[in-house]
Amino acid sequence: MRKKIVVGNWKMNKNYTDALWLVSEIATMVRDEVLSDVEVVIAPPFIHSYSIQKLIESYKNISLGAQNCSQHAAGAYTGEISAEMLASIKTKYVIIGHSERREYFEENSEIIAQKVSICLENGLIPIFCCGENLDLREDDAYFDFIKRQIGESLFHLSKEQFSSVVIAYEPIWAIGTGKTATSAQAQEVHQFIRKVVFDKYGAEIAENLSILYGGSCKPDNAKELFACPDVDGGLIGGASLKSRDFTDVIKAIF
Ligand code: PEP
Repeated sequence: MRKKIVVGNWKMNKNYTDALWLVSEIATMVRDEVLSDVEVVIAPPFIHSYSIQKLIESYKNISLGAQNCSQHAAGAYTGEISAEMLASIKTKYVIIGHSERREYFEENSEIIAQKVSICLENGLIPIFCCGENLDLREDDAYFDFIKRQIGESLFHLSKEQFSSVVIAYEPIWAIGTGKTATSAQAQEVHQFIRKVVFDKYGAEIAENLSILYGGSCKPDNAKELFACPDVDGGLIGGASLKSRDFTDVIKAIF
């Protein structure tokens, strides 16, 4: 059975007070209103992670995520945060290869592959992001591009390692733009991703893989997106910064 997951990627937003306030509101709403089996993940800026973990640990279906981690294990990498550090404060998921990291921090497929590996070595679940920009979409080149992204950063993994991975399809043209992929566009790519994984790792792994959609997902479009057979949840940016919107997106999964 594949897991339904909704992740809030807060990016570089919220000071300490606002972050704790937001997460308290989300935790209460999720406890009172979300009655079925969905895993809610909060990925705050690193500086808030420990306090947020302490706050959510008594809530049963809310987990801590991170927005990134270093590809290195430890040592002289000023400003970096290691996978081991994240694991030591009970982080469960790490977003790897977000398009903003690829673009602004020049993360290439090789670095992303190393980050995926180091997460798995430390018992963390990587949420591997892939997705095309507008040019690739308009040129109909997105299938090849996504297949290459997945092959270059994930296909070094053994079957057992891959069984822990989550994939997020995030068309770059839909991130923070207000332009959402239609449910048909999302389903087409999610089905394709599952086929790519099937060809490499077989039916059981492909069937159990959670594939999340990300890109301007909000309360008013989440229901349609989550109704697609190959969409297993969402990676939510803007709408995760308001407790009411985020909870409504989570509730749309049923
Ligand atoms: C994201 O950054 O992963 C994202 C999906 O952002 P937004 O929901 O704001 O488009």
